Amino acid sequence: MMFDLTGKVAIVTGGSLGIGRATCEVLAAQGATVVVNYVRGEDAARDVVRAIVERGGKAEIAQFDVAESKATEDAIAAIAKRLGRLDILVANAGVAVDGLLLRVKDEDFDRIFDVNVRGALASAKAAVRVMMRARTGRVIFLSSIVGEMGNAGQAAYSASKAALLGLTKTIAREYASRSITVNAVAPGFIDTDMTTSISAEVKDGMLKTIPAGRTGRPEEVAAAIAYLCSDEAAYVTGQTLRVNGGMYV
Ligand code: NAD
Repeated sequence: MMFDLTGKVAIVTGGSLGIGRATCEVLAAQGATVVVNYVRGEDAARDVVRAIVERGGKAEIAQFDVAESKATEDAIAAIAKRLGRLDILVANAGVAVDGLLLRVKDEDFDRIFDVNVRGALASAKAAVRVMMRARTGRVIFLSSIVGEMGNAGQAAYSASKAALLGLTKTIAREYASRSITVNAVAPGFIDTDMTTSISAEVKDGMLKTIPAGRTGRPEEVAAAIAYLCSDEAAYVTGQTLRVNGGMYV
């Protein structure tokens, strides 16, 4: 066991695939009861729960769309009430619609910000409301290397991921006195559904820019998240933990 999370309750938004799934599995392996949020595809969410339960962990699914603020806040409040506590929120749900500046459509920009930024805000609002009363909590936002570096073809997405760094720093300042820590994890190039659509040519070009010489695995991001969720990380707040093989230092 890396960091003991026994008895804690964690919600992972967009927890049925990729980095979210790996995070659910790692947090459950550390002893947390994990709520696997999904928006579509109940089977994949159930599959995560099955994998966790098979290894002796505790997990359940929860359907809500983080872009629906009220539904998200209500769902998170109900989960906290039913399970009696909420210690960890991993705001992982995210979408990417790529396009060079001149091709960025308003509707794509709105969709990206609705899910990535407003969805993270709504999730955090509901979670912090519960954590404030408990005077302890952990909030982790999934930012991205492109939020710090930029990336040609990802104007709207990178702006949304940069916005999460502002959220991280501000909410960290607002609730540090209540022992709630708020941090961002900024993954580099991680092998998930989000990156499989990238052409082999672009991928090869990117690999040359990664000092580690390889892409990252979702479990490697999940391990960083588990650290930030731990009691050991109580004095780490408002920070961005980069998991990128040295691609941005
Ligand atoms: P993914 O596409 O596999 O997972 C994203 C998850 O979010 C999916 O489960 C999806 O269903 C869920 N989701 C999307 N819209 C939602 C909504 N409205 N409500 C609830 N859930 C919703 O991608 P991933 O690579 O695992 O990405 C996870 C997070 O990490 C994202 O925020 C992404 O921006 C970020 N990230 C990924 C990489 C990478 O290289 N893969 C790099 C940097 C940052």
